[in-house]
Amino acid sequence: MSDSGHAGPRTPLHVKILVAMALGSVIGILVNHGEQHISTEILAVLERDGEQVRFVEYAVTDSGEREQISSESFPDEATFARSYPALEDASLGTNNPEIRVTNATVRIIHSLKGVGVTWQRSHNGIPATTSFAASSADKLPPFWSRLATSNPLGLRDVVIIAASFVGDLFLALLKMVTVPLIITSLVTGVTSLGGQGRFGQLFSRTLIYYVTTSAIAVATGLLMVNLIQPGKGALLPGGGKAIQAAEQSLLEIVYGQTMRLIPTNPFASIAGGEFLSIISFAILFGVFINVVGGEHGKRLKEFFESAFEVMMRMTSWVISLAPIGVAAFMLYSTASQGVEIFLTLAWYMTAVFLALVFHAVITLPALVWFIGKRNPVNFFRDMSPALMTAFSTASSNAALPLTMNCVEQRAKISNGTSSFVLPLGATVNMDGTALYEVVAVMFIAQATPGIDLTIAEQVIVAFTALLASVGAAGIPHAGLVMMAIVLQAVGLPLESQGVIIAVDRVLDMCRTSVNVWSDSCGCAVVERLVPDTGFVEVSDAPLSEGSTL
Ligand code: ASP
Repeated sequence: MSDSGHAGPRTPLHVKILVAMALGSVIGILVNHGEQHISTEILAVLERDGEQVRFVEYAVTDSGEREQISSESFPDEATFARSYPALEDASLGTNNPEIRVTNATVRIIHSLKGVGVTWQRSHNGIPATTSFAASSADKLPPFWSRLATSNPLGLRDVVIIAASFVGDLFLALLKMVTVPLIITSLVTGVTSLGGQGRFGQLFSRTLIYYVTTSAIAVATGLLMVNLIQPGKGALLPGGGKAIQAAEQSLLEIVYGQTMRLIPTNPFASIAGGEFLSIISFAILFGVFINVVGGEHGKRLKEFFESAFEVMMRMTSWVISLAPIGVAAFMLYSTASQGVEIFLTLAWYMTAVFLALVFHAVITLPALVWFIGKRNPVNFFRDMSPALMTAFSTASSNAALPLTMNCVEQRAKISNGTSSFVLPLGATVNMDGTALYEVVAVMFIAQATPGIDLTIAEQVIVAFTALLASVGAAGIPHAGLVMMAIVLQAVGLPLESQGVIIAVDRVLDMCRTSVNVWSDSCGCAVVERLVPDTGFVEVSDAPLSEGSTL
């Protein structure tokens, strides 16, 4: 029995995933490219009512009549100016009550959830994007409703719907195996660790690794953003909405994460998939299996070892479906994203990307080479199925089953190390996210007129970014939500985030791969520092491709 299907039993998994990624992207780009754009002429007006201002946009019909297509209220003009920085100079409402906007590009997206509308236009030459959705076309405002009805479901919509369905199925399978895999793996790992001394060592070395690499990551980000200065003179696109911000103070985050270490109801935590609570309970459970020892200890140890073996095989089977899932994810992301916005934020994206590459290609491999005493290139190849899954799903949690499988089966690192370093790392060790937060916040600061962050303030950005990355969950866009804390720390408006949301998915894919790569390198480093003699041999599962990959 083999997972290779028609591709033949010899095709390594990482090659299959790579081909699937490329195929998915190419088809997605083609489908996206073939899409018809709808153009319409628009007029923007700022209406005042005492302190309050209303920003209204009208479509201009052929007969010259105006039809309102959007309206947004702001408590005062300052708030408006922050959301639409490009319009600040236009003195809307005073000297220049109307700004003519031409050629708005509208995309109507039909999906399983209903109809989405995204329209891009330029205010005085500066691009702005607005998106909204409704459960059906008739629930949209009249103008959009007519447009949506006259542009029914097309090929692109069908492709997006099919791809998101297949991708979601794969994601559901990954989620299904994750919690049981973490529990059985951790309990087995801890019970095989033996003495308490080794456990303490493992714990301290792992924490040192997490903190050191995250600190280097934020330093790299800070350096790069100061070098490239992507925000200097950048004209930020307006019209973005602040996403629902994590309205928490730093202290609350630290408090929350600490409390999560003690689940008051472990079963509720397991049911809710709360990683930190599950991890701490599983570790404690494993420790007490050893403390009890004897007949009872032995029985439970064997039970968890068996359950772990079954979970690993189940995971291998899910992993064999990765090429299909990954292709679907890539197809979905490339078919549903507009490309125009990428050009506007090109320098910002370049800064994030270059800093991530430096961390992934220089810093982490150096640790693997010098401390882990492993060849980083071979290690990278071993980890590639997990990294590509992290890339396409933008979720460390979703990639976790693959990461564990690759570290143990392909890189031959002991279960004692991997079961400890990886699940905890997926939750708290996010080098890519920390680095990204620094670059994004510094970019916003550079682009905001009148803001010039001092060195001390930049250190605050770096420090809070590091803590925010610890608080971010291993799910898509978690880093974006946590960014509110970093912005608050240096007094930047939350609305400024609106401008970078449009390109977050792509950056999320990159930073998630770095997050997972850092956790994997952590295994290589910790394994060397705290050699584990309690390796739990998991026999080669027939569905996993084991060392032949
Ligand atoms: N998506 C990232 C992860 O799962 C977190 C983030 O948004 O930065 O690792």
